[in-house]
Amino acid sequence: MPEAYVTLATNDGYAVGALVLAHSLKSVGTTRDLCIMIAPAVSQEIQSLLHSVFNSVVVVDVLNSNDSAHLSLLKRPELGVTFTKLHCWTLTQYTKCVFLDADMLAVQNPDDLFAHPELTAVCDIGWPDCFNSGMFVYVPSIDTYGQLLHQAEVSGSFDGGDQGILNTFFPKWHRVSFIYNMVASATYTYLPAYKQFGGNAKLVHFLGALKPWQHRYDSNSGSVHLSPGYQHLAPYLNSWWAIYIRLVRPGIPDMNIESASYSKSLLGDIQVAHQLGGLSLGPESAMEGKARWERGEPDYLGRDSFANIQAYIDAKIKSNGK
Ligand code: UDP
Ligand code: MN
Repeated sequence: MPEAYVTLATNDGYAVGALVLAHSLKSVGTTRDLCIMIAPAVSQEIQSLLHSVFNSVVVVDVLNSNDSAHLSLLKRPELGVTFTKLHCWTLTQYTKCVFLDADMLAVQNPDDLFAHPELTAVCDIGWPDCFNSGMFVYVPSIDTYGQLLHQAEVSGSFDGGDQGILNTFFPKWHRVSFIYNMVASATYTYLPAYKQFGGNAKLVHFLGALKPWQHRYDSNSGSVHLSPGYQHLAPYLNSWWAIYIRLVRPGIPDMNIESASYSKSLLGDIQVAHQLGGLSLGPESAMEGKARWERGEPDYLGRDSFANIQAYIDAKIKSNGK
């Protein structure tokens, strides 16, 4: 039975994030299946795009389901999205899975994660005794699913979300390196370590309020407008946008841009990108590279991973997205 990366999107904004994540996993040569759980609120246009990129699209309607999640949710309405995420344990068509938040990007092949047992994850940067639930290795099981729901129903979640429930349920989790869930926004707090190890990152996580699709993108310069404090994210945000502009946006027909199902900020970003048009995103120019070296900035930000992504995009465009 196959193994899979599993992600979740309850709306179009996160679904676009998931599409970029899926392309990034393919660009680094994953050999595993890609599976996404979605809520019925994801628009039909985006759903058909998802079908073209993911091996499996599972519509999860926790509120209308007849299973135990429904009853648990009625008692714990504050845990809405959380219950949907826990649904990943029901995907028993897979022997092992790696759950990834939709706001992540693969920059090197993370398939070696599948050699680890349930539950394997990375320390949370806010409280490193806990794991961050943006990435975890798990084994689908209806039995485990039932136990998780029972715990959620009886005790709730100490942080109001899935991370609290999962950390209570898996107190003896296995730790892997930060490179498997490198919280991009946090690396700035320990810049020397970032410079030393950042180039090893395999999965980058855009944790926090400002998601990649909410940044402004300038197609003339082929780069993202970086708000103060976000400059160090440039290479990852540019990689994210390169995939979005070249491989995801063309599949979203213009008429749907006005669709109310888009989150306001995503709508804004897409409109800006459309208005600017004719962009060219590529690896940094020789001059930029020289300037960077002269500033004494080594290539710790994963230029090679951008080259991977660029090669994948080029190949996709040549084969008409097939
Ligand atoms: N998610 C979703 N819809 C939402 C909120 C979250 O589908 O309205 C999913 C999505 O996969 C997302 C994950 O739940 O990546 C966790 O939420 P988020 O990444 O926003 O939390 P953070 O990592 O910033 O704490
Ligand atoms: Mn996240």
